[in-house]
Amino acid sequence: MAKQSGRNRFALFDTELEQRMRTLHQIAASVEKGLADGEFRLFYQPKVNMRLGTVIGAEALIRWQHPEEGLLLPASFLPYIEGNPMASRLGQWVLGEALSQIRQWATQGLQLSVSVNISSHHLQDADFTEQLANLLDAHPDVPAERLEIEILETSAMEDVEKTARIIRASSVLGVSFALDDFGTGNASLTDFRRLPAQTLKIDKSFVRDILEDPEDLAIVKSIVALANSFERQVIAEGLESIAHGAPLLGLGCDCAQGYGIAHPMPADAIPPWIANWTAPAEWLQASR
Ligand code: C2E
Ligand code: MG
Ligand code: MG
Ligand code: MG
Repeated sequence: MAKQSGRNRFALFDTELEQRMRTLHQIAASVEKGLADGEFRLFYQPKVNMRLGTVIGAEALIRWQHPEEGLLLPASFLPYIEGNPMASRLGQWVLGEALSQIRQWATQGLQLSVSVNISSHHLQDADFTEQLANLLDAHPDVPAERLEIEILETSAMEDVEKTARIIRASSVLGVSFALDDFGTGNASLTDFRRLPAQTLKIDKSFVRDILEDPEDLAIVKSIVALANSFERQVIAEGLESIAHGAPLLGLGCDCAQGYGIAHPMPADAIPPWIANWTAPAEWLQASR
């Protein structure tokens, strides 16, 4: 293989590239068909305030109920459509579906805030704010304040000024923003100050080992301090057990989501889950 001529190696590379592009095209086409056939679902994962023992909202997480492959997680299809116009179309579906769900829960007497993940390319659409305004207009009975948009810290950093402009324009509508997977994107303090996102979501890679690893605890501590200094909210993601709650509460991080509280679940399961949930006694003790 290494001894092949330059020309042959180029030919090989071309074939791989072509094949890869064909595959990407096929995936985008099957996402389009899946969307038309109503195969996408949103699952919801509760977010809680551990100190107050209250449910503060839910994060919408996309799933693909594929006719042959079964229930697919986002990692198996989203990366392949990033940069394709399908990513924006799917993102618009997610926003519309989340707004409809907020309305449906409201008719059941449940006033719940929902956060939605928006990809970098979708956020950078020239008409993103207009898309959002149109979707909010189409759901006049849903207060915009009940919708939060999560964007990855890493993608916010790609073009801080542009991201900040989009956040400011969309915030006028009443929607709020969170920086997702915070701590993985190396935002400088200057970048961070420029981004008017109300909430930082501490990446689950730092939260997972706080019980054993003092350095991870130190990272969480400095993110909480950063959030406090800039008057932002902070939430820990990936809280895998009840025991992870106490050290977070000790650092002043009151809010969390994770398998230790609840796994993502279909929308129908949310109202009964909320009705039955009570905060563990050890969190209330740690909050004193
Ligand atoms: P994310 O926004 O950081 O969401 C959290 C992910 O961690 C979810 O994976 C969730 O199921 C998982 N998770 C929750 N609690 C725990 C825990 O305690 N431990 C561990 N190990 N994991 C936990 P999921 O649903 O597979 O989504 C993965 C990523 O895909 C999301 O990460 C988000 O970046 C992206 N994503 C999900 N839905 C959408 C969507 O509708 N649109 C876009 N653009 N991206 C989405
Ligand atoms: Mg998220
Ligand atoms: Mg995250
Ligand atoms: Mg993540």
